[in-house]
Order: sequence, then structure tokens, then C-alpha cells
Amino acid sequence: MPEPRRPLVAANWKMNKTVAEAGDFLERFVASIGGLEAVDLVICPPYPALATAVEWTERTPIRVAAQNMHFEAEGAFTGEVSAAMLRDLGVEAVVLGHSERRQHFGETDEALARKVPAALDAGLLPILCVGESEDQRDAGETEEVLAAQLGADLAELDGGALSGVVVAYEPIWAIGTGRTATTAQAQEAIAFIRSRLAERDAGQAQAVRILYGGSMKPDNAAELIAQPDVDGGLVGGASLDPDDFLAICRAGVR
Ligand code: PEP
Repeated sequence: MPEPRRPLVAANWKMNKTVAEAGDFLERFVASIGGLEAVDLVICPPYPALATAVEWTERTPIRVAAQNMHFEAEGAFTGEVSAAMLRDLGVEAVVLGHSERRQHFGETDEALARKVPAALDAGLLPILCVGESEDQRDAGETEEVLAAQLGADLAELDGGALSGVVVAYEPIWAIGTGRTATTAQAQEAIAFIRSRLAERDAGQAQAVRILYGGSMKPDNAAELIAQPDVDGGLVGGASLDPDDFLAICRAGVR
């Protein structure tokens, strides 16, 4: 029997919360995580709030993640931040390939292929986002899109490193729209992702955590995370409120 996968729930704050607002959230959140020992908790603040988030979560199991990084360690890349810089700050994870970065900021599969190993090499947990647009789903291309993204984004990953990656299935049509994938759609897509990973390494694919993201809320989280291949959630809008986010984290307790 493979080891059961530990659920992971991550709050993607996107471009929200000042340092003071991040502190207010974390003061409440840190005080309320009793009973969540079985769930990996991750908070992804914007860059300016990373240091305060690291301070608030010191001596707690909560991990702080950045929302992006560059694949080079240093150099002439104005506006960019490296994995080593994030580690230096106490950051432990990083979201890579979020659809908003792919859509609005030119994030490419080629760059992601370098970012995933760069994150791992620096000791960051990469949370790699993949997902199809509404048009692609309507055209029956969901699996083709997911397979292409996984193939390209994990192309430069060392053979043994697969199980150290977290994948988030985020259908673009469900992000920030209030439209959640049905449990069947989430399970089907995530099982497909696992089957693709299994073509690289069947054993490691069983260990990879695959999250669902897209309008996850306190009232739909439990049903989504109860699906056999869904190992947690990447939560945008509903993660801005500590009570809503806590409720979603509690839905991750199996
Ligand atoms: C996200 O940004 O990763 C996300 C899932 O957003 P939302 O929960 O708001 O749809």
C-alpha cells in the first residue's frame, strides 16, 4: 500500500494585503490552527508581506510561499526575485505558473521548466499550477492541454525529484469566477494528471500532492478534497478572510 498523501491547503493572496493586513490575518490564523496538525498549511502573500508572514509563522507548522520567482540565482533581471533570496528570507515554498502569470505576464513553459528545478535545488517546495481555459474545455482539449503543460514544465526535472513537487489543477474558467469545477470534473482532471505523472514514475506519482484550485469555498471544499485524487486546495478569494480560510483548511482533515 502506498503511504497516504498529506493534505495541503494554500492561501494565494495574489496582490492583496498590506504588511499590517497580513499581520492581522496571521495573528488570528496562527491562534486558530489547533486540530489542523494533519494538514500542511501554506500562506502565499505578496512579496512585501513575506518577511512579516515568516515572522508570524515562526515556531508554527505554517509554511510561507512566494507567488513567483526567477530561475537564475542572481544577475541583471530588474524586478525579479531568486529562489535563494526567498530562502534567505525564510520562505519555504513558491507558486509557479499560476494562470494569471501565464495570461497577463508572459510566463512561459520554457521558463517554468527552469523554475521548477531551481526551486527544488534551493530547497523551496514548488507548487506548479496547470489548467485549461473555458474554450479549451469546450473543445474537448482539457487532457491535451494538461499533458502539454506537465510535459513542458517538468521537462528539466531530475528523475528522482518528482515526488517533491506539488501540482495544482486550476481550471482557468473557475478562477475568481465563482464557478467551481464539479467534484467529478476535479477528480477526473486530477486523476488524469496523476496518470501522466505515473508515465514518468509510477511510484513517485502516487506520492505527489495534487491540489484543486478555482473558487474553492468553505461550503464546497470538503466535497472536493474528499475525492480520492484531490489532496487539498489552492485558494484565492476565500483565503483573504481568516475564518473562511480556516474552514477550508478544516475541510482538508481526512
Ligand atoms: C487562485 O488564484 O489560485 C484561485 C484558485 O483563485 P479563486 O479561489 O479566487 O478562484
